[in-house]
Amino acid sequence: MKVKQCGRVEQQTVLMKGARGCTVRWLISECDGARNFAMRQFELAPGGHTPLHTHPYEHEVYILEGEGVVVEGDEEHRVKAGDVVFVCPDEVHQFRNPTPRFFKFLCLVPNEAMQQPPATKAECQVTAADRKQ
Ligand SMILES: [Zn+2]
Repeated sequence: MKVKQCGRVEQQTVLMKGARGCTVRWLISECDGARNFAMRQFELAPGGHTPLHTHPYEHEVYILEGEGVVVEGDEEHRVKAGDVVFVCPDEVHQFRNPTPRFFKFLCLVPNEAMQQPPATKAECQVTAADRKQ
């Protein structure tokens, strides 16, 4: 067994194309001996977002803090702390933070995700609201 404090896990900037103001902490991963699943904590700064992207594996998401928007193709869902989101395999999705507060969530993925890099979507363009921030 391993017990860790989230704040002591290295916080990395997400450098993927289309990401902005987005960091990730790999709380539990293969590096810890986890054979099947990885638990990551993401933080989106105000105005931040993940890339609009898709991949053949699912996400299991738990919103920890703040409020944000989950984009599902052409639809948007408002989410807040306490909500959970299941992103199905191959769904086009994005997490956005249009609020002035930090938006934090856990995102669990199967380890196979490491061998299948996501495809970002060209339509993930900066919106008028983004340009003001
Ligand atoms: Zn994803």
